[in-house]
Amino acid sequence: MDIHLKALTFSYPNHTQAVLRGLTLDIPSGQFVAIIGQSGCGKSTLLRLLAGLLSPTHGHIAFNGTLSTGPSQAHTVAWMAQSPALLPWLTTYQNVALALKFTRTGKSPLMSPEEALDRVGLSQYAHEYPHRLSGGMQQRVALARLLVQGAPIWLMDEPFSALDELTRENLSDTLLDLWQWLKPTILWVTHHIYEAVRLADRILVLSPRPAQIAADLEIILPRP
Ligand code: ADP
Ligand code: ADP
Repeated sequence: MDIHLKALTFSYPNHTQAVLRGLTLDIPSGQFVAIIGQSGCGKSTLLRLLAGLLSPTHGHIAFNGTLSTGPSQAHTVAWMAQSPALLPWLTTYQNVALALKFTRTGKSPLMSPEEALDRVGLSQYAHEYPHRLSGGMQQRVALARLLVQGAPIWLMDEPFSALDELTRENLSDTLLDLWQWLKPTILWVTHHIYEAVRLADRILVLSPRPAQIAADLEIILPRP
């Protein structure tokens, strides 16, 4: 699903300085976009706008040509954050199956919870509770939940930043495999420029200075 941002400006209520100012951007369907920039430059705000959790002060957002209004439906946009947000009293399988509640039909458009757990390498942990899993494995559960949700747009706010380097690299590889297979449109906020270069098609650098067009620098990466 493609994303079009037109002259997107956003200020938080009671704040005079805009966080994003006049951002115009086209993201083709299936593109893997990394967003980098120093703390406070508006990366999370941009994702919240895309998820419909915030409304633009000016400008608009469209998905496949349809204007976004209010919180995006879960069948359009999936969200993954630094914390896997698993419910501790549900098993791994039950945590993943919870995503079925957010699909149109109560069935996953893509795959069953079993297959999703298999895809992230956690089949044998289906009946374990989250506290038995390492941080990396818990983020794998969150990835499986994303797969079951089956949304065409994945918004990822530093999903692997709390993990050690090796775990992070393993999970990035899994994410890259899943993207190559399913081709969701990904907007991925990261602090790791090396991983951005390794995984993304395109890197957006947001400026911390408020009076600027947000995408100061854009790097399009050739993919072999
Ligand atoms: P990043 O994700 O790049 O670190 P954020 O999008 O979280 O940046 O924040 C951008 C700016 O907006 C920062 O100056 C931050 O202090 C401010 N901000 C973030 N959330 C709120 C809020 N709920 N109310 C007011 N200001 C906010
Ligand atoms: P990754 O998620 O990249 O596989 P982790 O650091 O999360 O890396 O875990 C490394 C490996 O350690 C896991 O693949 C798993 O085999 C094992 N492991 C971690 N925590 C547990 C646990 N609570 N019970 C059983 N095995 C575990």
